[in-house]
Amino acid sequence: MTDLYRLLPEEMEKMVTDMNHPRYRADQILYPLYYKFPKNISDLKQLPIAMRDQLIADGYTIGSAVEVHRVVSEDGDTTKLLLNLADGTPVETVLIQYPSSKIGGHPRSTICVSTQVGCAMGCIFCATGQMGFERNLKAEEIVAQVIHFANLLMQRGQHVTNLVFMGMGEPLANYDETIRAVRLLTHPRGFGIGQRNITISTIGIISGIDRLAEEDLQIGLAISLHAPNDMLRKRLVPTAGPHSVEDLIAAGKRYFKRTGRRVTFEYALIEGVNDSAEIAKELALLLDGNGSHVNLIPINPTAGNFQRPSRRNVLEFERILYNAGVNCTVRVEKGSEISAACGQLRTDIVG
Ligand code: SAH
Ligand code: SF4
Repeated sequence: MTDLYRLLPEEMEKMVTDMNHPRYRADQILYPLYYKFPKNISDLKQLPIAMRDQLIADGYTIGSAVEVHRVVSEDGDTTKLLLNLADGTPVETVLIQYPSSKIGGHPRSTICVSTQVGCAMGCIFCATGQMGFERNLKAEEIVAQVIHFANLLMQRGQHVTNLVFMGMGEPLANYDETIRAVRLLTHPRGFGIGQRNITISTIGIISGIDRLAEEDLQIGLAISLHAPNDMLRKRLVPTAGPHSVEDLIAAGKRYFKRTGRRVTFEYALIEGVNDSAEIAKELALLLDGNGSHVNLIPINPTAGNFQRPSRRNVLEFERILYNAGVNCTVRVEKGSEISAACGQLRTDIVG
C-alpha cells in the first residue's frame, strides 16, 4: 500500500511513467490532491477509469484524516482537532488564527502539526512528554493533518499561511519523515507553502540541527532552551544527555550562518523553577552578543505541579533580557483554556 500523499512530484511522475502513462498524468493527480482534497482514488476524475482501477489494483490509496473531536476557543481563534489518521491512530492538530483586526496586516492561519504520537524526550512540564512515546508519524500522516485543515479553511474562503512543527513529538527525532513532509508541503507542485512560512521547533538534537542546515531549505528553527545552565536544564529535560546549553547555542549559530535564518530560543517560564531575576541575568550573559531572539512562554498548566509565573515576574524576566540587549518576546498564549496550547497536547485524554 502506498499513500499518494507520500509521493513527491518527481516520484509521482516516475510512478505514472512506470505504469506506461504519459508524464502529465502526474499533475492530474497532484493538482486535486493539494487543491481539491479527494478522499478516494475514484475521485480523481481527470484520470481515465482504467488508470484509476490500475492504481487501486496496484495498492495505491489516498490517506485522509477523520475528525473525531473539535474544541474551539472562546474567541474562535484557536481550533484543536483530534484526528484519526488513515490507520485509526489519534493525533492532535491545532489551528491558530490571527485575524487582521488583532495583528494588523494580513490575517494568519497557522497550523501546528504533530510529528510523533507521544514523545520520548520526557520534558517534565510537557503533557506530551508525560504520556511517553508511542510511534513516529509518516510524512503522509503529517501532510494529512495540514490537508484536513486546508480543506476546512477552504470552505471558509481562507487558506493555510504558516506551519509550525510544534505539536506532539520531537520533529528531529523523526528526521526523515519530517523532512519529507516539509518537501511535500513546500514543493511548488505539491502543497506549495513558502519555506519561510515554516518553523521547526526542536528540544535540541544537535546532529539533526546540523543536518537540517545542509538541506538547502529556508525554514525557521526554534530551539527549546528553557534554562541557562546544564544542571537546571537536565532537571527540566531529563533526556538532554550530553548536549550542553553552550552546544545548543553553537548549533543555533551554525544554523544561522549556513541558512541566514534567525534562530529563536524558546524558554518555557515556570514559577519558582526557572523564572528568577538571577536566572534571567544568567540567560542574558549566556546569550549576550549573539543577536539571538528569545521567545518566553509562560507555561501552560499540565498534569504536573508546575504553574506559570505571575504577569509581573514574566515582565521582569523580559525586562532583564531586554536591558542586556537580548531580543525578546513573550508568547501571546492562545487556546490554553481548551488545552490546545503548547505542551498540553495528549491523546490519551480526549477533550
Ligand atoms: N518537541 C519540540 C516541539 C514540540 S513542543 C520542542 O520541544 O521544541 C513545542 C513547544 O512547546 C516547545 O517550546 C516546548 O518547550 C513548549 N512546551 C511544552 N510544554 C509546555 C507547557 N506546559 N507550557 C508551555 N509551553 C510548553
Ligand atoms: Fe517532547 Fe517537546 Fe514535549 Fe519535550 S517539550 S516532551 S521534546 S514535545
